[in-house]
Amino acid sequence: MEEFNGLKVIEEFEAMTKDAERIQSETLVMILKENGSAEYLQSLGLNGRSDPESYKARVPLVSHKDLEPHIRRIADGDSSPILTGNPITTISLSSGTTQGKPKFVPFNNKLMETTVQVYKTSFAFRNREFPIGKGKALQLIYSSKQFKTKGGLAAGTVTTNVFSSPQYKTTMKAIQSASCSPDEVTFGPDFHQSLYCHLLCGLIFCDEIQLISSTFAHSILLAFETFERVWEELCSDIRNGVLSDRITVPTIRTAMSKLLRPNPELADLVYERCMGLSTNWCGLIPEIFPNVKYIYGIMTGSMEPYLKKLRHYAGEVPLLSADYGASEGWIAVNVNPRLPPELATFVVLPNIGYFEFLPLIEKCTKDKEQDKTEPTFHGIDSKPVGLTEVKVGEEYEMVVTNFAGLYRYRLGDVVKVMGFYNSSPELKFVCRSNLLLNINIDKNTEKDLQLAVEEAAKHLAEEKLEVVDYTSLVELSMGPGHYVIFWELNGEGSEAVLSECCNCLDKSFADAGYVTSRKVNTIGALELRILRRGTFQKVLEHFLALGGAVSQFKTPRCVGPANNVVLQILSNNVVKSYFSTAFQ
Ligand code: AMP
Repeated sequence: MEEFNGLKVIEEFEAMTKDAERIQSETLVMILKENGSAEYLQSLGLNGRSDPESYKARVPLVSHKDLEPHIRRIADGDSSPILTGNPITTISLSSGTTQGKPKFVPFNNKLMETTVQVYKTSFAFRNREFPIGKGKALQLIYSSKQFKTKGGLAAGTVTTNVFSSPQYKTTMKAIQSASCSPDEVTFGPDFHQSLYCHLLCGLIFCDEIQLISSTFAHSILLAFETFERVWEELCSDIRNGVLSDRITVPTIRTAMSKLLRPNPELADLVYERCMGLSTNWCGLIPEIFPNVKYIYGIMTGSMEPYLKKLRHYAGEVPLLSADYGASEGWIAVNVNPRLPPELATFVVLPNIGYFEFLPLIEKCTKDKEQDKTEPTFHGIDSKPVGLTEVKVGEEYEMVVTNFAGLYRYRLGDVVKVMGFYNSSPELKFVCRSNLLLNINIDKNTEKDLQLAVEEAAKHLAEEKLEVVDYTSLVELSMGPGHYVIFWELNGEGSEAVLSECCNCLDKSFADAGYVTSRKVNTIGALELRILRRGTFQKVLEHFLALGGAVSQFKTPRCVGPANNVVLQILSNNVVKSYFSTAFQ
């Protein structure tokens, strides 16, 4: 096995980012050469041209919806060159939590290679700052249900496609601590059972664990919230060397039986460590895993609301935010792992795809008759710019051309350019681009909602409560439309505090369009609906049933008509609701 050489990886990264423009052009040439015979490109009349100008002139910007008929043909078994020169044999399922259902996205070896490059680069920078010794990793990862499409193609979430690939396994073996869990646990068919066994494996090797990781931070939180409930059962399994009968999957039972031996000393040790913690489990991670160096996973964007709770468990252990990518392909790497997740940026790797950036422009016009300032809102300018043409401080929607049949594909993410690393931009993830809350002239994004929730949640502190998770809805069925915010709390709040939170939410949407509309009541009073404990767990289960994986789950921050089932789950679990009196 080739030994991992972090310095060499960093040198290559330096060279590549210094020459980003040339490498982008070469990458485009490579993508178009490899896929020149694809029906899609042929029909656009590129005729072998592969320069950026001809490409942009001939190939339209598309969204997933535009490509769906082509992807459908591939999934149904048509192996002619439709989107790519070589036939696609694997389909990835994007988490689809923002759209309501998973989307099919083509996956191939080239995407696998770029994934490995991203992991290696990111690890080289991470390991330079936080070297990890010999030991094990508690990897809280789960596969999705894998199935065959109508045409017989393998389909699963991209994390499943990646984790099950031999190439990934070989690379990861060379560069990082081995997972403490056997494959049967990671690839088990029931995530509750896998989660329990991940925790059990973590405890069996508790003094060897060097890092704790997952794809998205949500899974780490889910694991330690579960730990709070099942730790005594875990201790008892270790004491007796007998696996809990909650584990029913035979492959998992067999794999775990190879690890589990009666070990009363270890059980006592874990028990003592748990008893040494305060009742709110503050500092749980370093107490149980004293040699853990860091916690690693995507912690930006829709994961930010979970940071507070994660820090509560992590104590002094650093949180390192992972890279930026999607089922459609990786985009950028976190090369400054020391920055806290709130400040994390990602440097685009110029050879893993061809990237364009659609400027989002802030428009602010005057309503002359009333002499009132109209709302500031995001509009999309029609001309995307190239990787090295972006401007620092500006926001853009990402447009991706990858090695697996996506050409000028609007990813639906908004990023902000924070600077340049050599000549490649450093991006901050802002939010999904689909506008969230909009009734008339108001426009509030996922980020605006997050800020409003953070502001309002401060009022919960007096009752030692926290928002476990949240989402929103535009309610148009009665009177003027109004915003509905759903909160799941970790306890019961008083009427007074929750009314205050509701008013605060209403006042915290600072967008001028919202404020103006609220004042003249063209948008009705904001409504805060409190959910029964465990409601978001039900939402998660719903996405798993659709073929999603816990590893890729992101709570939908706005529930639109496409998310009917989620709306039903939420509606069935409302225990109380409050209307704002803020603008009366
Ligand atoms: P999926 O749809 O499951 O493929 O997830 C991909 C999406 O997750 C991206 O389009 C982003 O919206 C989000 N995402 C991926 N990486 C990050 C990151 N580092 N920070 C914030 N959001 C991310």
